[in-house]
Order: sequence, then structure tokens, then C-alpha cells
Amino acid sequence: MSLQIGNATAVPGQIVYGVFEALPLPTGGTEFFPVIVAQGRREAQPVLWLTANIHGSEYDGIAVIHRLITESLVRELRGTIVAIPTLSPAGLRTGARSPYYLNGRDPNRLFPGLPAVYDDQTNHFAPALEQAYARLFDSIQSTASYLIDLHDFGIRSIPFAFRDPVFFHSQADKPVAMKLQQTIGGMLDALGLTVINEFASNRYMDMDLHRSVSGATLNRARIPAITIEIGGQQTVHELHVQAVVVGIRNVMRWAGMLPGSPEPLPPVPVIRPGYPVRRTIHPRVPYACIVHHLVQPGDFLKAGDPVARMVDIYGRPVGPEDGLLRTRFEGFVIGLFPGIAFYPNDAIMGLAVRDHNELVVPAPPL
Ligand SMILES: [Zn+2]
Repeated sequence: MSLQIGNATAVPGQIVYGVFEALPLPTGGTEFFPVIVAQGRREAQPVLWLTANIHGSEYDGIAVIHRLITESLVRELRGTIVAIPTLSPAGLRTGARSPYYLNGRDPNRLFPGLPAVYDDQTNHFAPALEQAYARLFDSIQSTASYLIDLHDFGIRSIPFAFRDPVFFHSQADKPVAMKLQQTIGGMLDALGLTVINEFASNRYMDMDLHRSVSGATLNRARIPAITIEIGGQQTVHELHVQAVVVGIRNVMRWAGMLPGSPEPLPPVPVIRPGYPVRRTIHPRVPYACIVHHLVQPGDFLKAGDPVARMVDIYGRPVGPEDGLLRTRFEGFVIGLFPGIAFYPNDAIMGLAVRDHNELVVPAPPL
């Protein structure tokens, strides 16, 4: 049986383009996800899925897919690449994180999540996009060997990968979960970028991260999946895109999908602090203010270091210490959040801090 996604059927040695019908539009016509299926001449397995732009304002992933999938790649390819350049066509058209028909909801929390939580949605009227994602997820679940979901972080960011926790459902299931987490470790090593663990497991569930593209693929379908955050939103970062294209080709070599030894990454910052880190959103401003940043993505900070200066619209300091805002934690700056005008308790950046949590954790009870 040939692999088929939407109306795109794999042809050995070729790149096939097609559509996956997503949802009907009230004005007529159909919203579709674009599908690219590239298959090597001889082998159909393994199958690497690449998905991008579920947040419509994050463009780097589209550029990565466009640069990666070429005729010369297919000549060397063993296995199949399935790529969806945008999981949010409406968000892409308007440059918005959330497509207008989701009314501000995060589309990257609409995939089928952990069974215990997701399947208990009585009287849930799923938005049309959620239904489309559920159908696409069936295709992922039945065909994917690996999945990489492509994003951007903040307005300026280092390129990095998120590593999600893997949940186990019984003691007998724990070795399976550990094996899965080990495979993800292999993928991340091959990728070669900075690795940041997702929020600790209880926060991960609270934030519905098990319903993200990679979270659902990993924890519901049990298929190795990672998220790459390429750069900042609203633009294309040429060097970061090049680095991620090389990194994905190196993952493909690790998976036996390309011949040869790993290529060196272009010169992007890669941070290996010598201990695992996880993401936090820190610090937050205590006052309404205009923020002048004093740090850059990738900077290392000690607890108590100043990260920004808070001023009013006239440029006068807000708060004590001439308006300095300090970090309470040691860590490195992941990326800066958009804008310079902030309200009380708004966070201004992402900070990677030492992680003491397990990466293989018990699932919430059924
Ligand atoms: Zn995103």
C-alpha cells in the first residue's frame, strides 16, 4: 500500500504535492492543509513528519520545509518525508498566532491529548479546526516514525528544541516510556541545538501541552516527537533556518534516512550548561512600564542580575533601584517577548533554569 496523506500519494523517487481538506468555509470553498510527500527511490520507511506554522505568525518553519525538501535530497533519501508547511492557513494569511475562527484560542492545544484527560470531554462541541486536527492526527498515528514540529519563540530567540516529558500508565508501561524518552534523546543529540525541557509535568498538563502537535504525537500516539523553536516571530532568520535545515538532515542521518556523517551546524549559539534545564517565564514586571532590555537571547545570568530597566513613558525610572528588574534565578535567556509596553505581572522573557524534574512521569489517573 502506498502512503497517502489527503490526496497526496507517495511515489518512489518523487516529491508529490497535495491537499488535506481541513474545514468548510461559510463563504464557500474549503480550508486545506498543504501536503508534501517526498519518498526515496527504494525504501518507504522510516517516515519523518515535519509540521510548521500552527502559530500563523511563526514563519521560520515554512522556510525550513521549503529549503529542506529538494530533488537532490530525494535522490539520497531512504524513507519518506511528509511535510505540512502550515497547520494554520488562516493564521498565516493574517499573520496571527490564532486563526480568526478560533477567537483567540491557541491552535497548538487542540490535538488529541492524553486519553485520561482528552477522552473525558462530555458535551464538548469541537471547533471545526479541532476536528480537522483529529483527522490529521489519525494519519500521523498510522504513518509516522518520527515527528518534528517547527515554531518560533518570542520576538528574538536562540534556536533550540523543547523536550517533553513522557507519561507512563502503569509500572509495566514504564520501560516503554523510558525507551521512548531515550529515542528522543538520540534525536536531540543528532539535531545538535540547545535543548530545553518543557514545563514540569503538572504544569504541562495544566497548560494542555499534551495536546500540542508534538505532545500528542509523543504521549498519545507514542511516536518520538520534538518541537524546534527556530527564532523570533514575524520574520525569517536566515542563519537559524540554515542551522535547523542542517540539524534535521543530521536527525535523518541518525534515523538512517540519509547517508554520510553529520554536517557541522552554521554558527548559531548552542548552550550546554552541563545540567538539564527547563523553561520558565521570568521575570515579570511588578508595575505598568516601558521596558528597556539589558540582556540578549543566550546570555547567562546569576540570581540577582539585572535584566531590564523599567521606566515610565517619559523615560523616568519606575520603582526602586533606578527601575532595575532583576532575575531571581540563575539560568540563560531563551528569548525576549514582543513589545516594550508591559502591564503589572506581565513576563518579559523566557529563562532556562536548572531542571530537577523527571522526564518520565506517571500519567494522571484514568
Ligand atoms: Zn509556536
